[in-house]
Amino acid sequence: MSKQCGECSKCCDGWLHANIRGNVLSPGNKCIFLTNDPNGSCSIHKDRPIKPCQIFSCIWLITDMPEHLKPSLSGVIAMNNKIDGVPYVFLVNAPNYPTDEIINWFKEKEKYSNLLYFDTDDNIVYIGETKFIEVIELHKDDIIKQHLDLAKHYIKQI
Ligand code: SF4
Ligand code: SF4
Repeated sequence: MSKQCGECSKCCDGWLHANIRGNVLSPGNKCIFLTNDPNGSCSIHKDRPIKPCQIFSCIWLITDMPEHLKPSLSGVIAMNNKIDGVPYVFLVNAPNYPTDEIINWFKEKEKYSNLLYFDTDDNIVYIGETKFIEVIELHKDDIIKQHLDLAKHYIKQI
């Protein structure tokens, strides 16, 4: 049986960036359509936008990542991303830092050879192919700034 999001709503919860019907979803700003309803947390579920809501899947959902690494349990969203056309995996703090177990899970998968995350000292870490490293070097300052903006959100939540 395929995995289900179930009780998880991490991708709607104010850790990622998106625009939902003109409303900004960003670090610290959860989706305005997110509710606490135990029967389904999206108040417009049937009519939710195709992009990003219907097409977004975190990597936990579409792989054999263990159950305890589900974003709602780990506090980390692993997502496929692209920068200047180069695909990579971004481990987003939501609000936790990626553990060694999560990092090593990706390092062992050839398919996910480009990996970006922040360590517990908020240092940016990027591992992968030469092209990926070159592109990250170009955009590093912006990525760090976004991460520090997100860090302010962690503080609000703790
Ligand atoms: S973070 Fe993953 S498991 Fe959680 S709701 Fe989003 S897609 Fe589903
Ligand atoms: S519209 Fe629904 S599925 Fe989309 S981000 Fe908001 S709560 Fe999540």
